Amino acid sequence: MRFELTILGSNSAIPANHRFPSAQVLNVMDRLYLIDCGEGTQMRMTEYQVRRNRIHQIFISHLHGDHVYGLVGLLTTMNLNGRKEKMQLFSPAGLREFLESQFFYSQVVLAYELEFHVVDDQRHQLLFEDGVVEVYSIPLEHRIPSTGFLFREKQRQRNIQPTAITEYGLSIPQIEAVKRGEAVTVADGRIIANASITLPPYRSRSYAYCSDTCYLPQLQHLLRGVDLLYHETTFLHDMVDQAVKTKHSTALQAATLARDAGVGQLLMGHYSSRYKELSPLLEEARSDFPNSVLGREGGQYSDAPEREAL
Ligand SMILES: [Zn+2]
Ligand SMILES: [Zn+2]
Repeated sequence: MRFELTILGSNSAIPANHRFPSAQVLNVMDRLYLIDCGEGTQMRMTEYQVRRNRIHQIFISHLHGDHVYGLVGLLTTMNLNGRKEKMQLFSPAGLREFLESQFFYSQVVLAYELEFHVVDDQRHQLLFEDGVVEVYSIPLEHRIPSTGFLFREKQRQRNIQPTAITEYGLSIPQIEAVKRGEAVTVADGRIIANASITLPPYRSRSYAYCSDTCYLPQLQHLLRGVDLLYHETTFLHDMVDQAVKTKHSTALQAATLARDAGVGQLLMGHYSSRYKELSPLLEEARSDFPNSVLGREGGQYSDAPEREAL
């Protein structure tokens, strides 16, 4: 029962130091959600064997190039590969115009539909839901409208005890009903109480993506208790003036927010190209929030280990 994030790009502004600009893919039970799409995203997808045809939603935080310049290429490749399914895109205003002008001058007509959803960067609201997750916006503050994304796994089903299946000779529809929490009537007419043959569902997991943004202490309420928080750590704190000026965050600020919000783990990223070596950023974050880790391209992160699903 996967809930796993793969980093495809971790640098800010430009590709440098063997790092590509921002892109991530979240896998929730084999549904893939792409978050930002900087230059190089396609190459990383190939390298890490990310299955493009499993992506049906793309979440773009803002329209700075290091978060979106990979998108026109990716969407075109999907077209060349014969994609027919609709793609839903969530972003602050302007993405439609941004993409359509490129397709217009390249004379590209996609054979599949792009469905644009404009996100209000000032509000925290439900943007999308499917069978496994709900996705909410997180209001951020940057030089242009920017939004974060909070993924919350939906309430999961109860776990049926394997011995009950053979003991009562349960059919597939009965097993499904039991997982939904229903009692079941077995062949001899007995009604079996749900609680007697199930265990509580696994804990639902959550992931928050906050990039790009200046330090916003008030986000601690909205981020309270999330399992995994990705927060940009563009600078070391000795460059806090630069961070304030460019509306970015320092490693220390991200760690302080992680600590105040009581998250499970802080995942760092969006590193300035001036940092070839990232360990000073990690040390700084850990000084305030020990469970901080560096986001590395190809790295997979999940801070919600769980028992094996039945
Ligand atoms: Zn950026
Ligand atoms: Zn930016």
